[in-house]
Amino acid sequence: MLDPCIEIIDERFRQLVHGNVHMDKLWTGGRWCEGPAYLPAGKYLIWSDIPNDRVMRWDECSGEVTEFEAPARNQNGHTVDAFGRLVSCEHRGRCVSRIEFDGTRTILADQYHGKRLNSPNDVVVKSDGSIWFTDPTYGIDSHYEGDKSEPEQDGSYVYRIDPDGTVTKVVDDMVKPNGLAFSVDESLLYVCDTGRSHVPGTEPAIRAYDVSEAGTTVSGGRELCVCDAGAFDGFRVDRSGNLWTSAADGVHCYTPSGGLLGKIHTPEVVANLCFGGVKKNRLFICGTTSIYAIYVNAQGAT
Ligand code: MG
Repeated sequence: MLDPCIEIIDERFRQLVHGNVHMDKLWTGGRWCEGPAYLPAGKYLIWSDIPNDRVMRWDECSGEVTEFEAPARNQNGHTVDAFGRLVSCEHRGRCVSRIEFDGTRTILADQYHGKRLNSPNDVVVKSDGSIWFTDPTYGIDSHYEGDKSEPEQDGSYVYRIDPDGTVTKVVDDMVKPNGLAFSVDESLLYVCDTGRSHVPGTEPAIRAYDVSEAGTTVSGGRELCVCDAGAFDGFRVDRSGNLWTSAADGVHCYTPSGGLLGKIHTPEVVANLCFGGVKKNRLFICGTTSIYAIYVNAQGAT
């Protein structure tokens, strides 16, 4: 029997969820939970509690939640690279950073063309080692999620960091690019726009950009899907290419062509999610103040 939190919109969604599973509430007490990442080697989940300026850690073995880092330069999005290293977006640090094997922190990018970044929001690592991130202004718009500052960049863009450290602008036609992910074969880059926060009328959509043959630039940018409940923020792709995305009423699941398959409803607005567990078949969901988890019949692509 399906838990009432699961809403089937397209019958194909039944194949992606389990009967007799329920949503676990792993923790509560945050102010705005974001940026989840599961570190398989250590069997733990970390996420940002941005306004409280801390990164939290849930230990899969013990179930304990402790502070992982505080203060945390108002970190937001996280991902794990091919070597298992944690890559972080920092609002107050206004940079993308990485924790090395010895525990030291390396700043990978904090400026573009000699000017400071706005406040990196979310990040993904491509198989060639390049790191792609979004840079809206949410961390400098006010003192709530970082330090209020005038932007130095002339807009909010998506950038790529090459392994040699070169930073290149790759998407410049969005208002506030936010969550991002590659398709399974990396031929598409998906980016959502939360620009309605600043420019009323901006579609709360995920757009799909074609990645060039060389894998370094994108073109096109067609609307894949539009959110019917609030706005998309962070999202992830499963091994079959489906998109699992945050929304105001929970998690929405879309086909690679943008068809809404179903929803997993949560009691709180969702800002981001990731697949985790050693089999990558458990969704970890950042509700506003809480972390939820549910097993699904899909596995995260990365
Ligand atoms: Mg975000």
